[in-house]
Amino acid sequence: MTKGETLGYRCSRTVSRSRAAGLCAVLAALGALTVSGRAAASTPAPWCGTDLASVDRRPDGVGGPSFHVVYAVPAGTPDRFAEWAPRIVGDVAEIELWWRLQDPTRAPRFDLHAFACGSSAGRLDLSRVQLQRPAEAYGVQSAAYASIVGELAGPPFAFHDPDKLYLVYYDGPVGGGQVCGTGARSRAAVVFARSCGQEIDHDLRATAAAHELLHVLGAVQADAPHVCPASPGHACDGVADLMYPAAAPGQTLLGSVLDIGRNDYYGQGGGRLDIRDSLFLERLDGSDSTPPSTPAGLTATNDESSAVALAWSPSSDDVGPVTYRLYRDGLLLSSGLSRPFASGGGLEPGRTVEYAVRAADPAGHLSEPVSIRFKLGVGIVDAAGRLVRDTVAPGRIGGVRVRRLRGSLVVRWARVADPGGLRGYEVQVRGGPVRIVGRPEVSVPRGRRASVLTVRAVDRAGNRGPRSSVRAG
Ligand SMILES: [Zn+2]
Repeated sequence: MTKGETLGYRCSRTVSRSRAAGLCAVLAALGALTVSGRAAASTPAPWCGTDLASVDRRPDGVGGPSFHVVYAVPAGTPDRFAEWAPRIVGDVAEIELWWRLQDPTRAPRFDLHAFACGSSAGRLDLSRVQLQRPAEAYGVQSAAYASIVGELAGPPFAFHDPDKLYLVYYDGPVGGGQVCGTGARSRAAVVFARSCGQEIDHDLRATAAAHELLHVLGAVQADAPHVCPASPGHACDGVADLMYPAAAPGQTLLGSVLDIGRNDYYGQGGGRLDIRDSLFLERLDGSDSTPPSTPAGLTATNDESSAVALAWSPSSDDVGPVTYRLYRDGLLLSSGLSRPFASGGGLEPGRTVEYAVRAADPAGHLSEPVSIRFKLGVGIVDAAGRLVRDTVAPGRIGGVRVRRLRGSLVVRWARVADPGGLRGYEVQVRGGPVRIVGRPEVSVPRGRRASVLTVRAVDRAGNRGPRSSVRAG
């Protein structure tokens, strides 16, 4: 399965006249086998959230890349968030439990928030989104996934954090209600809440959500030994495999297997994508359980060529070593930086961008981000664009004129402007002491030989501009 492909998780019970019908018949015959594997049911559980935010709440309650969960309802459709939040929390708790049972050394990291709560899943940072278009706009099965995910990624919702993957419960009618969910690598999983009877079938819904999350993590690669010939992205070595293309009647998540034989997509080793290595999974078998400290003192400046340079104070980690990730306007600019400084790339004059830095440890933990707004040629600004800290040096002096008097030379240059205010000009004559003059001129005694002056502007924050040499004589 390549990036951008979408694969439906087909619900066998409601499919009647599709290509999947034949498969469903086979599954029905095998149904008893799956039902016997039924261990427990996914149970709705209380959500401890106290607000109905449509955003990803900050700060995150987990120290690493995580799955952020969204309940989305089309415009003009009754909002059933109060009903759905406990179902979603139940699914998340079920997926966490199932994963640990399948692999005691790993647990998926869901985005949590600091709600007071007795259960970890109850602290889910669950966003409630009213989409901007009516249900018809998302109702065509072939286009539903792209419409929903595309809208959530754009403004005003902006669910496109490079350290998040998304699990969306879409509460609107889609197609014939036969596709339970869709997932595409590196983006989002969508569970079609009204399809496949998933409003009441908690087991199927939790299974579908887990199945789609595995797609988002990259399962199943085309070169896996048991990849389904007729259903790319799925494993065909047994109906109990979570990544089997269709859900069997009565299938439960706890009765499903995370990669039968561990040879297709999970823990198989070798060069193929191994989801067990995903940084979206917390390592329960390692010694490093704490994220690195948040980098401090992030600052930025730019040089004459409009190239931005960033620096910050190093982070510490209980195990380490620490690397850094740099973001510009919410997009990952560079990662794996081993030292506490980086290039912020080039910018157009007058442009303001937000830079953020997070520290990462080898177990995949991430510190909270530290961020600044930087305006090219000006410095660190606040949200309203006002200068907070002048970090940019004044420009080079120009327009130099030399006037010869009887006993002295008067050197003048054009006034240099600085958005944070100018202190003056540093002048050094023939390598002598440095002095500061407030006005753009200096008088030098006339000697037998020519005098070489170096001049540079200094702003009130102490930033020094580039030196210019002036030959006067
Ligand atoms: Zn699938």
